[in-house]
Amino acid sequence: MTDRETLLEVRNLKKHFKIGRKSIVKAVDDVSFDVFRGETFGLVGESGCGKTTCGKTILGLHKPTGGEVIYDGMDVHALDSDRKKDFTKIAQIVFQDPYSSLDPRMTVGDIIGEGMDIHHLCKDKGEREERVFDLLQTVGLNREHINRFPHEFSGGQRQRIGIARALAVEPEFIVCDEPISALDVSIQAQIVNLLMQLQREKQLTYLFITHNLAMIKYISDRVGVMYLGNLVELAGSKQLYEMPYHPYTQGLLSSVPVPDPRIERRKETAPLRGEIPTSINPPPGCRFASRCDYAREVCYEVMPPLIEIEDEHFVACHLMASP
Ligand code: SF4
Repeated sequence: MTDRETLLEVRNLKKHFKIGRKSIVKAVDDVSFDVFRGETFGLVGESGCGKTTCGKTILGLHKPTGGEVIYDGMDVHALDSDRKKDFTKIAQIVFQDPYSSLDPRMTVGDIIGEGMDIHHLCKDKGEREERVFDLLQTVGLNREHINRFPHEFSGGQRQRIGIARALAVEPEFIVCDEPISALDVSIQAQIVNLLMQLQREKQLTYLFITHNLAMIKYISDRVGVMYLGNLVELAGSKQLYEMPYHPYTQGLLSSVPVPDPRIERRKETAPLRGEIPTSINPPPGCRFASRCDYAREVCYEVMPPLIEIEDEHFVACHLMASP
């Protein structure tokens, strides 16, 4: 890709939360990456690694502790109220839990239409209703659903309503925050296919947050791997899956089943050991050191920087600097 355009620049982003007087959770700690217009950038990692906090901070739902988010030339966290409102139209989110993210007292029509009202996108009620009908159809629901309430729908249908709500304001960038993890396996592929189809039709850019490595492989152009608030590896999806360098990425990928049983049997595995430690007051050095078979003295003292070790393949590991 030579003609790609940077849409989003995340620079040294930090989001820390104070707990009590002495403890700090470093949920996102010095994370940098770009997202190109029209791509799907996957952000993966185990639960608690900071990927959702990262997505929400990018959208301005959290105030960052440090760093910058530049969207199409705008500093997202320095916008005045009018431009902030414009940004909420351009950049949307599809939440993880379709059960708690929809107001149970609102009809589907009002849930989808709310954003249109806030941004004055329709000249009258008739136009608003027509647009809601169109959106219901776009996400595979029916016109008759407009006056129903969220509890009358299945999980998959609710997630379709959540997607329609995000699309209602005609965004160009969507953070998909674990959009399928609360759904039955049989429904997950339908929702992923819908998101991919919408991306093609509407030239959307996605930041796709998930712990599901098997799925992200097929839908992402590039993937960033997070561990305990840090980005530890970043590469094109194919590159990352064929040649992961960071011991954490290798461990994560070893647990992803290969559909071909012959390859699966031959696969060399390096499973992750131990649990992900807490991100409260993390020690200096590499955050993965307590679980890493290759850890040495320097790993416990110095945080490894994210360096480009091959064309567009970045890794944060001391092994890469001096094998
Ligand atoms: Fe393991 Fe050290 Fe690399 Fe961290 S920096 S992943 S502890 S070898």
